[in-house]
Amino acid sequence: MKIVLLGPPGAGKGTQAVRLAQKLGLVHLSTGDLFRAHIKNQTPLGRKVKGLMDAGQLVPDDVTWQLVAQRIAEDDCAGGYILDGFPRTIRQAELLGEQETLDAVIDIEVDGDVLMHRLCGRRVCVACGAPYHTSHYTGDTCTRCGAALMQRDDDRPETVKSRLAVYEAQTAPLIAYYRERGLLRPVDGAQETENVFAEILRLLGVA
Ligand code: AMP
Repeated sequence: MKIVLLGPPGAGKGTQAVRLAQKLGLVHLSTGDLFRAHIKNQTPLGRKVKGLMDAGQLVPDDVTWQLVAQRIAEDDCAGGYILDGFPRTIRQAELLGEQETLDAVIDIEVDGDVLMHRLCGRRVCVACGAPYHTSHYTGDTCTRCGAALMQRDDDRPETVKSRLAVYEAQTAPLIAYYRERGLLRPVDGAQETENVFAEILRLLGVA
């Protein structure tokens, strides 16, 4: 199965992608995570994309596609994958479509004010990546591994606003693009994580 998870930043794509990958035995491919790993390892690509990411802007299509094309060509992706955060522009969708046949595009829908709240309060463990939210947990260390929690640079309010504007301008047109191709499966992302997951499984016909 080749699945795309579409939706604005903060819709819960990452959370659902991890669970789906586990349940269906698919590779979870997050372009945001790939870029963050390059930044952490201070690679030339990492240095190139850091400024754009910190400002909430998109990395150029050709750079992003190169990274994705390389990754999906690896052996473990032959059994299927979940794309989380890609494509984010019509051009990226075209590049992907020239090479791959998708099974479904799950569109996780959430209102803008809910997204602001979710993203600005989001914290993540520096060591194991476990996600937290300040409205559920006010500690500053990870309850699983004890490492420090941090706020992603791009989860600061001003950057979140830019990311949501970029989503509306550049990514939201993909909804119509995939609807026209009969691939779009909308899900209400404001529900509890469990319910969103159950609905996605139902839409994929694997519930
Ligand atoms: P994410 O973790 O998916 O929210 O992505 C974090 C940041 O990585 C985005 O704000 C962009 O700067 C960059 N990024 C991730 N995926 C893409 C993509 N498909 N195209 C361009 N930039 C991306």
